Amino acid sequence: VKQDGRNAYRFYDISMTTDVQRTMDLDSRLRQAIKNNRIEMYYQPILDLETKQIVGAEALMRWEDEKLGFIPPDEFILLAEKNGLIHRLGEIAISQACYHAAHWQSIAPIKISINFSSVQFRYCDTLLAQIKKGLKSSGLAANKLDIEVTESLLFNHNDEVVSLLEDLRRQGVELTIDDFGTGYSALSYLQKFPFDKLKIDRSFLIDIDQNASNRELVSAIIAMAKALNIRIVAEGVETKWHTEYLLQRGCDYGQGYYFSKPLPADEFEVLLTHSRMP
Ligand code: C2E
Ligand code: CA
Ligand code: CA
Ligand code: CA
Repeated sequence: VKQDGRNAYRFYDISMTTDVQRTMDLDSRLRQAIKNNRIEMYYQPILDLETKQIVGAEALMRWEDEKLGFIPPDEFILLAEKNGLIHRLGEIAISQACYHAAHWQSIAPIKISINFSSVQFRYCDTLLAQIKKGLKSSGLAANKLDIEVTESLLFNHNDEVVSLLEDLRRQGVELTIDDFGTGYSALSYLQKFPFDKLKIDRSFLIDIDQNASNRELVSAIIAMAKALNIRIVAEGVETKWHTEYLLQRGCDYGQGYYFSKPLPADEFEVLLTHSRMP
């Protein structure tokens, strides 16, 4: 018993150190990855549910470390928000995504959606400068850019953030509320802020064919968005059932493994080219 106890204690001790060690490792490896251009954007198609045409792509950040392997974006973005690297990562996302999207315009007039965490809006001037630079150097038209932000951004009602969003929208940039329904939303912001689209979080779709209350929720979100003239994207579309249900309820766009996983730029380009063939 005594020995078991000691082993258990030692095990706990080691796992603590491992946690701290991992954060330190990740921190320095992430800096290295940025320097060595190891951060790559992947692209997941967004389809018009009625026509099944690709109308857009969401840019999703990927980092495969030589030593640590694949690090999920949820993990390294959280870290980057803490250590400040998020601003540099944001710049990378904007420049790569705008570059690729500009190139793809000759294949199809698709929009590119880029994720922005609330922390990135801490320096609105920097953010605006990054976006303008991304558009200018790629030649991408502002109305091909779609910015995904979460409800938490609007929670604190920052005037500077509101005027940045309004400024972008005046230039033709589209604004989407991401992860809709997962935050502490007050819904009133839907009237106050000029959003074009709302993205229903994947968690609502997971067991929708079994779970009647999630089904009602999705249906209510779609109806509400329609009443407010906001278009709806469903993420996490994994089955034919999902597609048909969403279409029948009037959801405009879908994104998920049923259509495609996020792909590297060259593979996305092949998909886009083929989907446009007559
Ligand atoms: P998100 O914005 O909610 O992105 C959607 C996530 O759902 C992506 O995970 C995507 O790969 C995944 N997904 C899409 N379709 C399906 C599906 O049918 N089934 C399942 N199981 N998953 C699906 P990913 O790429 O791991 O990204 C996680 C989160 O990391 C994103 O959530 C976003 O919050 C953040 N993120 C990713 N790239 C960036 C970036 O460039 N900048 C910022 N600020 N955040 C990013
Ligand atoms: Ca997103
Ligand atoms: Ca989500
Ligand atoms: Ca998210």
